[in-house]
Amino acid sequence: MSSLATPTRESTATSVPYADRLRRAQVEMARQGIDLLVVGASADLRYLIGYEGHESERMSVLVLPRDGEPHYVVPGLEAPLLHDQRDLLEIMPWEETEDPAVKVAAVAGTAALGTVAAGDELWSVFTLRLQRAMPRARWSEGGQLLRPLRMIKDEREIALLAEAARRTDESWEEFLTTSITELTEWEVRDRLMGLLTVRGLQPVFCNVGSGPNGASPHQTASDRVIGPGDAVVCDWGGSLEGYNSDVTRTAHVGEPSPEFVRAYEAVRAANQAAFEAVRPGVPCQEIDRAARGVLAQAGYGDAFIHRTGHGLGLSLHEEPYLVEGNTLPLAEGMVFSDEPGVYFPGQFGIRIEDTVVCTADGGRRLNEATRELRVMG
Ligand code: ZN
Ligand code: ZN
Ligand code: ZN
Repeated sequence: MSSLATPTRESTATSVPYADRLRRAQVEMARQGIDLLVVGASADLRYLIGYEGHESERMSVLVLPRDGEPHYVVPGLEAPLLHDQRDLLEIMPWEETEDPAVKVAAVAGTAALGTVAAGDELWSVFTLRLQRAMPRARWSEGGQLLRPLRMIKDEREIALLAEAARRTDESWEEFLTTSITELTEWEVRDRLMGLLTVRGLQPVFCNVGSGPNGASPHQTASDRVIGPGDAVVCDWGGSLEGYNSDVTRTAHVGEPSPEFVRAYEAVRAANQAAFEAVRPGVPCQEIDRAARGVLAQAGYGDAFIHRTGHGLGLSLHEEPYLVEGNTLPLAEGMVFSDEPGVYFPGQFGIRIEDTVVCTADGGRRLNEATRELRVMG
């Protein structure tokens, strides 16, 4: 097997029911009145066939009719990468002088007169070309179609998410034994990502916000040098066979002020309240309300400027979203983050994030790295 194909090696594992996923996607298409699904390189693709695709200017797409066999329209030079998918679908290579959109339309047949769902991450240039090749089709969002499948994790998926989370927790416990005074945020980022690598995770991201930078929730990292008096928000994760971890912890360098400790304890209580609200049947927005209620009560309502959580799996952010207005009921097998935070521009930020699975009995945390306030050197 070529090194390019290595990331999708789990597709050889017979334990992954790709054929079943494709069939369930077709059942969902029938339910939602969709005739054809087109998916390019993405987590959706990896979920459906165990190949995450190769992003390039050459169109490479899974074409799944509601009734009929799945096809994969692929540049000839990429076709060998689909070695493990040969029994799953019909592979249709196209030569450099051919128009792949015409090949997709040919596979579609009469489905091109109906509703075509385009994967959420299909490049717009491919969508536009497919729309020209199938001018009579109505178009819809593939994400809405696949949501009921991807949102509910099976046992193997939960086991991989749990193992990725466990190794990420370990990286934090080791990180806490080190000193970060005089390091830049970039250096802290490198250290945390290295601690994932040595544990066999593929580092995916690491955002480090110290002092006032912590007040910006999606701050990446900077050359700012960390010193006593700084709160440091670390949000990082890695992947195991494509399944992500996503953890946030906030440490303090040197003794924290009473104001900081009070805000920290409020965030910790909000994280706990959201966790305790998890059980099947509860609307997503209720989890957000549980966290928000605690922070509002403590006087930090205005400082909590984002939703409480997002689904996690093959994508870092996926359904379900724990946000006001989302009435979708939680169900067994959903996996999502619980990540309340407070942000004080010019001063500091605090966030505590765990991954939680909804089980029949309620929430189960996949992260157990300490949530207690830790003072670092
Ligand atoms: Zn985010
Ligand atoms: Zn995060
Ligand atoms: Zn997150």
